[in-house]
Amino acid sequence: MTQYATVDPTNGRLVREFATISDTEVARALDSAQAAFLTWRETDVEHRAATLTRVAELHREHAQEMAELMTLEMGKPISEARREVELSASIYDYYAIEGVDLLADEELKVNGPGRAFIRQAPIGALLGIMPWNFPYYQVARFVAPNLLLGNTVLLKHASSCPQQALRIEELLREAGTPDGVYQNVFASSAQVADMIAHPAIQGVSLTGSERAGSAVGAVAGQHLKKCVLELGGSDPLIVLPGVDIEHAVSAAVAGRFFNGGQACTSSKRIIVDTQVWDKFVAAFVEMVGELTMGDPREECTQLGPMASTAARADLAAQVDDALAKGATAHVGAVVPEGDGAYYPATVLSGVTPQMRAWHEELFGPVAVLYQVGSVDEAVALANDSPYGLGGAVFGPDPDEAARVADRLDVGMVGVNQVIRSAPELPFGGVKNSGTGRELGRLGLEEFANKKLIRTP
Ligand code: NDP
Repeated sequence: MTQYATVDPTNGRLVREFATISDTEVARALDSAQAAFLTWRETDVEHRAATLTRVAELHREHAQEMAELMTLEMGKPISEARREVELSASIYDYYAIEGVDLLADEELKVNGPGRAFIRQAPIGALLGIMPWNFPYYQVARFVAPNLLLGNTVLLKHASSCPQQALRIEELLREAGTPDGVYQNVFASSAQVADMIAHPAIQGVSLTGSERAGSAVGAVAGQHLKKCVLELGGSDPLIVLPGVDIEHAVSAAVAGRFFNGGQACTSSKRIIVDTQVWDKFVAAFVEMVGELTMGDPREECTQLGPMASTAARADLAAQVDDALAKGATAHVGAVVPEGDGAYYPATVLSGVTPQMRAWHEELFGPVAVLYQVGSVDEAVALANDSPYGLGGAVFGPDPDEAARVADRLDVGMVGVNQVIRSAPELPFGGVKNSGTGRELGRLGLEEFANKKLIRTP
């Protein structure tokens, strides 16, 4: 049974628990979301945009306190947590500022008399199911475009970050959203399935694991509900001969270890040409070894604990499997003694298809380095994954690197840079990494009725 609770990952202490809501409360929330939709959709877009501006301001006013809650509930280093609050605020701002233009009618070319337009209209109440790894940002990228559009939202957050879930609801309320426009629901998986089936819900968006995505996608399909899934990734980062080693190494370290490696778009597989292998590995391992692991409340900490000891046990089992089958650990790979869900920054090489680390997502601070002899080999290895979220190619000639990037089966790719989320840029993947896009114009269109209007 789902248990909503704050557990401090630095020491395993249970801080607060919250009851799951009753079926009666679920029914009331659904009715309220539907009733609110009927009036929210009729408000001016400028009014909805102004509400989002206020949400952004409130994020900034409460940034430190919100960041501290994140650090408490999932162990993100405090400086990174503050950056996430700011990124979330910038998403609300983006839709507030660009909203009117983004929602403008698109005129179509018509063969014959009259005119035709596509209008982005809202579709109704939506359900969001969000994970713990970016607790404010992931809610922002779903909520901001949909409230702008005129949809209403029920939000089931991860059971491990209930205080952040409540804080978001409070801020949206304080920003002036009417009753029912945004509601937090501490629901179980069974209640989620019932909500998706309910006629009031017109769509569902989930960020999380393939297991959860597949379960939610199946229910959505059964009930013919629109579904957006943002799932795992095992992003390749390809390093070509002649690369600027210093630049590639610092980007790869940042790309792999931000958020303790617990990000869908981490550079989990670093694929290095044999001509630069020795230099790259030496510099990469040295830089990883210098990352400061410790109390996430300290400003200088770069690597906090993982989100839970269960997640750490899963990661340690994947690494131990690789080591038992002959992989090499250049640094890390040993679970430290003492309290907390700490796992050290780790670098592996010599990983083969027989090891779990080859094809599974490593959701924590573990980088895997692969040595390849040619660009074709690098591309084949990069595409040999069930995932297709992001990727990056580093090389001396940006045009050549861009041609390699074109060959990757991913939803997002960076040339001489790793993918970083930005409010105006679409985010999403292919293959088992999910369906649909968030952010930018494409994110706004996912839950829009693209209504055809014909006029004389
Ligand atoms: P989950 O996918 O289990 O959780 C994500 C969200 O989905 C949570 O709100 C969770 O609720 C909910 N959920 C899970 N199962 C169901 C279901 N059957 N029906 C409805 N809602 C459901 O992620 P975990 O936290 O368990 O992490 C496991 C793995 O998932 C990670 O190791 C990583 O590989 C991947 N992951 C990927 C993320 C990404 O950014 N793409 C983010 C988080 C995880 P509850 O918390 O109540 O279980």
